[in-house]
Amino acid sequence: MAVAVRDDVQHEQQEAIRAAVRDVCKDYPDAYWRELDQRQEYPEAFVRALTEAGWLAALIPEQYGGAGLGITEASIILEEINRSGANSAACHAQMYIMGALLKHGNEEQKQRYLPKIAAGELRLQAFGVTEPNAGSETTRIQTTAVRQADRYVINGQKVWTSRFKQSDLMLLLARTTPYDDLTDKTRGLSVFLVDLREAGAAIESRPIDAMVNHSTNELFINDLVVPAENLIGEEGMGFRYIIDGWNAERILIAAESVGDGRWFVDRAVKYANERVVFGRPIGANQGVQFPIAQAYAHVEAADLVRYKAAARFDSGQKCGAEANMAKLLASEAAWEAANACMTVHGGYGLATEYDVERKFREARLYIVAPINNNLVLGYLGQHVLGMPKSY
Ligand SMILES: Cc1cc2nc3c(=O)[nH]c(=O)nc-3n(C[C@H](O)[C@H](O)[C@H](O)COP(=O)(O)OP(=O)(O)OC[C@H]3O[C@@H](n4cnc5c(N)ncnc54)[C@H](O)[C@@H]3O)c2cc1C
Repeated sequence: MAVAVRDDVQHEQQEAIRAAVRDVCKDYPDAYWRELDQRQEYPEAFVRALTEAGWLAALIPEQYGGAGLGITEASIILEEINRSGANSAACHAQMYIMGALLKHGNEEQKQRYLPKIAAGELRLQAFGVTEPNAGSETTRIQTTAVRQADRYVINGQKVWTSRFKQSDLMLLLARTTPYDDLTDKTRGLSVFLVDLREAGAAIESRPIDAMVNHSTNELFINDLVVPAENLIGEEGMGFRYIIDGWNAERILIAAESVGDGRWFVDRAVKYANERVVFGRPIGANQGVQFPIAQAYAHVEAADLVRYKAAARFDSGQKCGAEANMAKLLASEAAWEAANACMTVHGGYGLATEYDVERKFREARLYIVAPINNNLVLGYLGQHVLGMPKSY
């Protein structure tokens, strides 16, 4: 009985979050996102509104000025954004990048940055991990950080560093021990909090012209000086700290995909009911109706795994298997729904004014990033099912 009451209260709180986020999103309709997409511009006004409403500080504990919510609630925020037709990719990283600082930073670092991030005075939403010569094999990154007295000097190159120009701070992974000197190849990398306001010409950025409006860049780093006090945690343990954040990231991305999937299903059903060809709504044809119903079932199934993963995360249980499965299933279900929605719209699916083609491009990204689904399958095969390492 007590559990049922607690569940009811929690459910009510979650529904209130959903409604409040929906309210913010209402002011940013399809046309807003469509026009930004066409101009390849960052949704500055939307991100500001979301920050001012406190939603991007959901995961920051109350003692540092955040909302102190769980990953379940944070995932509901991002799901609702994507379900409204918007794109959480513009701001989701603000939610989870700070996890490394929160979990592995020292008290002085947390006091210095977290309250300002929570208040929206500082943006920490750039994440410099991927490199052109390493790709998915993160332990092979080549950017180096060399300690000189009380500072590190960083040189190298990053690729796909999203929201770099819209961030004050960047979490950067760099090599502090040469790869060949390591017996354990997962060591030797370190995480730095880089203050981009002080970086100046030491980081040259070049925007990548991409299929999605993602504000993403190549970075060329030349003699970037970072004070040693900006090292997060222990030198050489950076890969472990990055991995620690992966489950949260995967659950949040899964929720975004669920939001996308529901948006596609809603739009597909609406169009199937309205469009009349051969004297009846096209939705009266099983060839039109069934792919939408099938995608709907897959989105709902993925959603259950997402909530299971989130519940395990929030109660401190191991959730690697569930978080990976949620990301895999939700991104694929959203993609299935995207294709059903595209098909049902006939030629109009390709017209920008219907927004289907924009969301179609955005939903496809999550099969590839932040982690490719092949590597998710590799994780399940090896770590959950006990087969040999395949990557
Ligand atoms: C729009 C966008 C935004 C991004 N934002 C960021 C960001 O902010 N910060 C950041 O650090 N990174 C970011 N990324 C990078 C993203 O995380 C990587 O693209 C992704 O991890 C894959 O790396 P890769 O592109 O080098 O592919 P690769 O590693 O070169 O892989 C290419 C293909 O080979 C497959 N493959 C490789 N090895 C194996 C194997 N052993 N078994 C089976 N299949 C395999 C992969 O699954 C993939 O299909 C972003 C990417 C995109 C597209």
